[in-house]
Amino acid sequence: MLHKLNSPQQAAVRHLDGPLLVLAGAGSGKTRVITQKIAYMIEQAGYDARNIAAITFTNKAAREMQERVGHLMDASRLKGLTVSTFHSLGLQLVRMEHAALGYKPRFSILDSADAMKIVSDILATTDKDEIRGAVSTISRLKNDFVSPDMALTSAQSDGELRIARVYRAYQDTLFAYQAVDFDDLIRLPVELFDREPEILTKWQLKLRYLLIDEYQDTNVCQYRLIKQLTGFHGKFTAVGDDDQSIYAWRGANVENLNLLKEDFPRLEVIKLEQNYRSTSRILKAANAVISNNPKLFEKQLWSELGIGDPISVVEMKDEEHEAEMVAMRLLAHKFENRTQFSDYAILYRGNHQARILESQLRNHKIPYQIAGGQSFFDKAEIKDVLSYLRLIANQNDDPAFIRAITTPKRGIGNVTLEKLGGLAAERKISLFEAVFMPSLEGLVQAAQYEALQTFCGFINRIAGRANREPAGALLKEILTAIEFETWLYETDEPRPAETKWKNVLELVAWFDKRAEENGDSLIDMAQKIALVTLLEGRSEEEVDAVRLSTLHASKGLEYGHVFLVGCEEGILPHQQSIDGGMVEEERRLMYVGITRAQRSLTITYCGKRKRAGEWSIVEPSRFLLELPQDDIRISGRLAGQKNVVVSKQEGRAKLANLLAGLDGKSAN
Ligand code: ATP
Ligand code: MG
Repeated sequence: MLHKLNSPQQAAVRHLDGPLLVLAGAGSGKTRVITQKIAYMIEQAGYDARNIAAITFTNKAAREMQERVGHLMDASRLKGLTVSTFHSLGLQLVRMEHAALGYKPRFSILDSADAMKIVSDILATTDKDEIRGAVSTISRLKNDFVSPDMALTSAQSDGELRIARVYRAYQDTLFAYQAVDFDDLIRLPVELFDREPEILTKWQLKLRYLLIDEYQDTNVCQYRLIKQLTGFHGKFTAVGDDDQSIYAWRGANVENLNLLKEDFPRLEVIKLEQNYRSTSRILKAANAVISNNPKLFEKQLWSELGIGDPISVVEMKDEEHEAEMVAMRLLAHKFENRTQFSDYAILYRGNHQARILESQLRNHKIPYQIAGGQSFFDKAEIKDVLSYLRLIANQNDDPAFIRAITTPKRGIGNVTLEKLGGLAAERKISLFEAVFMPSLEGLVQAAQYEALQTFCGFINRIAGRANREPAGALLKEILTAIEFETWLYETDEPRPAETKWKNVLELVAWFDKRAEENGDSLIDMAQKIALVTLLEGRSEEEVDAVRLSTLHASKGLEYGHVFLVGCEEGILPHQQSIDGGMVEEERRLMYVGITRAQRSLTITYCGKRKRAGEWSIVEPSRFLLELPQDDIRISGRLAGQKNVVVSKQEGRAKLANLLAGLDGKSAN
């Protein structure tokens, strides 16, 4: 079983007694160690699958890991194995312990848009920056285990006092809605375990061994959860790479790697240095770029996969040309090498860069799939439908109530909703409950009163059946009852309405599939969907398509041929990071991007780019200068110009000289 692993990998798999950290660069087989170790533990070490939990960074990674372990052994022995993200594990804990936490079994999970809306109501503002600022401060406080009361008493300035009050109101609102946000999914179990050692012991006995992938991106809260669950014996395997820590903006803390050593003196550290993914040139480029960052841990990657092609660096006139060139090169490369579309990935720094690539790929009839973009579940029509499910699952979910009752319009106007809201606030009950208050009848018009009763009666009837009947069929019944399709065509032009309806049907199909695979009920689904939106869209079908992805979402994955586009100052590194002194994190993103490639890597940048409708001249990324110049081949030229890369900086001039001296084919 272990013969497909090198010796340090085997050592990592066999090490079961105490805490283990596998610290290694990209493509060195860290994730493979986790997968094989799960199989080893069950097959050789006598572990029951129910006592093992593997934690991955995305749902997609979790599915993949489950599948891979499935290939290694008999499905019957895998029963009860937990492979999930931190958030799904948190959801499982909150669900099982809802009573101890003071929540009803059917609580709602709010996504970030819901959180923004609540904060916007509390602040009585529509200023996006202000709202975002408050939301992220609240999130930080939560992750640091600062309660609203603590924030209120420790506030040092008017500003802090104000935010503490917003935090208090936000938490109260969430509780009134019987809702939790993403941060709560980790924070609540951690606080519960601190409070109730018996509950913790129960979970420690259930989850006896933890395996954690992408450990470098855990935040303080997640680390505490690991520490609690693994307890005194520290039975866990964490694998990670400090050079791939790219979620500092969400509270991830590389220092957690050092903390492990302090908190677990028996910690064993195993390093892996052989890379099984990329050619030497790609690795050399990755090593060269990352060597410009200060090092936490020294490591050098090497591979036996041959030297490989030089890395292509292509300069294009503008983003339109860049996208077109990528499409054309991709087609030519595919033709020459008889590859599949799924062997290619186009990676970029920000989601906004996808649109222009998409249109060029469509022009060239290249099939593609987007990861980490605007989620399917963020589309308005999908959120409309989901609001019904949320309300069916949890009648205290006021945001879902408002959305569902106004979509489609039922002639219930704002005045009625305000009256209803007033009554609910006065009695400290949910909007749904307020509908059944006798005093409501005198407050609103008779027709509106009737409409409210009909609506809530309908929700109640469906809720009564939600746990018993198949989710897909029930969803179809709801759509028919609310005449959703008709409503879409009434409120939109035929073409967009058709697209929206198709999306809704896709949702129904997805429900059918999930119900079939996992036996999930409508209620289960309503809760899980919020998690799916956290890091990615739906599970993709295995189709032959080019992958479009942000650098962040590409973590852990590998592709035969990678195009890394928009390698410019202001994009990669991102302007905000340049201004905020966070270039090192951007360099790690670049490192992640380069190391996704197995056989070829093409890096592109533009001479000018449209920003807020205006063309501006852009400069090539500083990271291009950090590439080993002997291993790159530069081509492309700004139309009609020579020495196009103009900059006072010495490094830039060097690249300009290179460009001038090289006789690369003009791709323009
Ligand atoms: P990343 O840091 O990008 O997450 P990783 O360290 O998790 O990378 P894996 O994805 O586990 O690396 O492995 C990279 C590739 O190398 C995979 O295709 C994997 O199957 C392969 N691989 C890993 N170990 C071996 C081995 N001992 N022999 C052959 N192939 C291997
Ligand atoms: Mg990995």
